[in-house]
Amino acid sequence: MSNKLLQPVTALKGIGAERALDLEALGIRTIEDLLEHFPYRYEDYRVRDVSEAEDGEKITIVGTVYGEPVVRFYGQKKSRLSVKVVVDRVVLTAIWFNRHFLKQQLRAGREIMLSGKFERARLQITVSEHYFLDTGKKVPKEGTIEPVYSTTANIQVKQMRRWVAEALREYGGAVEEILPPYLVQKYKLASRAEAIRNIHFPTSIAAGKQGRRRLAFEELFLFQLKLAAYHAMNRRASDGMAQKIPLDKVRAFVRSLPFSLTNAQKRVIKEILDDMQAKYRMNRLLQGDVGSGKTVVAAIALFATASAGFQGALMVPTEILAEQHYATLKQLLKPHRIEIALLSGSATARQRRDILAGLQSGMIHIVVGTHALIQEDVYFRELGLVITDEQHRFGVEQRRILREKGLHPDVLFMTATPIPRTLAITAFGDMDVSTIDELPAGRKPVETYWVKHEMLDRILAFMRKELDKGRQAYVISPLIEESEKLDLQNAIDVHAQLSHYFSGKYKVGLMHGRLPAKEKDEVMQQFSRGEVHVLVSTTVVEVGVNVPNASLMVIYDAERFGLAQLHQLRGRVGRGSEQSYCILIADPKTEVGKERMRIMTETNDGFEVARRDLELRGPGDFFGTKQSGLPEFKVADVVQDYRMLEVARQEAADMVSRPAFWVGPEYAKLREYLKRDEYFLERIKD
Ligand code: ADP
Ligand code: MG
Repeated sequence: MSNKLLQPVTALKGIGAERALDLEALGIRTIEDLLEHFPYRYEDYRVRDVSEAEDGEKITIVGTVYGEPVVRFYGQKKSRLSVKVVVDRVVLTAIWFNRHFLKQQLRAGREIMLSGKFERARLQITVSEHYFLDTGKKVPKEGTIEPVYSTTANIQVKQMRRWVAEALREYGGAVEEILPPYLVQKYKLASRAEAIRNIHFPTSIAAGKQGRRRLAFEELFLFQLKLAAYHAMNRRASDGMAQKIPLDKVRAFVRSLPFSLTNAQKRVIKEILDDMQAKYRMNRLLQGDVGSGKTVVAAIALFATASAGFQGALMVPTEILAEQHYATLKQLLKPHRIEIALLSGSATARQRRDILAGLQSGMIHIVVGTHALIQEDVYFRELGLVITDEQHRFGVEQRRILREKGLHPDVLFMTATPIPRTLAITAFGDMDVSTIDELPAGRKPVETYWVKHEMLDRILAFMRKELDKGRQAYVISPLIEESEKLDLQNAIDVHAQLSHYFSGKYKVGLMHGRLPAKEKDEVMQQFSRGEVHVLVSTTVVEVGVNVPNASLMVIYDAERFGLAQLHQLRGRVGRGSEQSYCILIADPKTEVGKERMRIMTETNDGFEVARRDLELRGPGDFFGTKQSGLPEFKVADVVQDYRMLEVARQEAADMVSRPAFWVGPEYAKLREYLKRDEYFLERIKD
């Protein structure tokens, strides 16, 4: 970027120190920031032919007031003003809400321009803006398309338009191309300057779209370039540990497992071990559907690191999972003389001290714990591998902590939320991805049914039948306690009802997030051992829990959960050899809600669920929270623009693989862009 554009906004006429502060609240400091504050929509003042306007569309028309305006008051201080307006011999009804004072001005015969939402059936327009054409006052030029910006209370959209226009007039010429010419030509992109002009003040809808397309591409490309460059640098760096893994020992370990690995498992294990043996740091995401067998992959990697003389840590989101993984790993690794410890919140001070000492001395090879593990005062003799299970968000933070501790182990993230590719390459684009896309043979898909609340009796009868066969059941409810606002079933109530229903015959346990860790544990253990037959729970059992004898999952108010979450919950059953069932109790009110339930009944494939969920809900909701680790794009939309994202990713990867990228003058602007980031500033020397 040329320096001109990096001047503060106060360089513009009409923006003083005070206005600059207002703009700063929007993150706008420089002229460039202002130019890159893109409109999120447009006001279209092109006058439309009413006969062509569609229902619900926002239109602008010019017509003549006809007849008397009518005002109706209702509620507290609310009013509705309506008047007939003739447009091309069609009579429309124009409506204003809470603008009764306009009545006097709406005299028959006056020419007026109206913008608002059009309702086809009633030939009605709900006016959001109006201009009398006989006053000589300035009216938005017929035929213009005006940008609408996000602003703050202190800034009006009109002012913003003026400032942007001024910035374009004064500095539009200083906007430089950042993409190399070959990309601009290959994808027939508008130049950067042209695109910026057109996205703010499009001369036509097509020009606006061209501008948007160019800027979306640029945004996705620059983002992918950063990830690709980061990846390339990490690969080249030799600050990782080249672990000398005795592969024959690993093979023997694999042979000792009670089953043979699926081809997908074998493939991902090779990818992981290759990374561990290389001198760069592994930064890999392992994804696989629920039940695809990620734990054993983790066990093999941990075995490998221990056999190479390093230590390994497995971190999981909950204590329950930590204990479960610990038990599994202990069973697998103990016979091979690998020392494994559980660092749990319920350990006594003394146990804890022993474990910490063991980690520091190297007596303990593998430690399992919650994510808090590395944040605490835990020191390792030589940490070679960190595996993080079931957590999306942890990556960046975890890397920081490890770095600050001076550790640089290989890192593997495991997730059972299959992530659609477009999201994976945005959220985890700097990682290598291994995918287990195959389930162990002999798994029966879980049969999933969607039922209404009225069917509860039949569901209970069905549950009884399963229990009579010796199976166990989960019952999930979204809330813990009764809530006055939401008439939802809650875990405590459901537990009481079921205990009553099955009293004397089956034991019903209750688990929720507010129980003390010890009690949660106790219930889970009892369920695991088959002493509790029905486990009523909130979503704390969501991830990872493995009780193969459970064959029925009942989910109350299923419409309240995300599909990824429902799929996770469903994954708690179908882990044994028996046919398993998942029953979703839901009365969704919306079409989307119904569609979501249908998706669950139609497919058992987590990737398919994820893909369709993403289509329905968009990327923000996909991970359930705002803090998904997804970058926020200004122009691009990772769902709509996914093809562009793929292209941008490929181009970025190609580009950084060229030696010229790191030195050639034609890429200087892009390198400059990267160097705005501290990581690259330190590493790219120009
Ligand atoms: P997830 O990927 O959901 O974490 P797990 O690792 O818990 O899955 O594996 C689910 C079950 O499948 C476990 O009981 C595990 O022992 C078993 N399993 C894993 N791999 C295989 C395999 N290749 N063949 C048969 N069973 C397997
Ligand atoms: Mg798992």
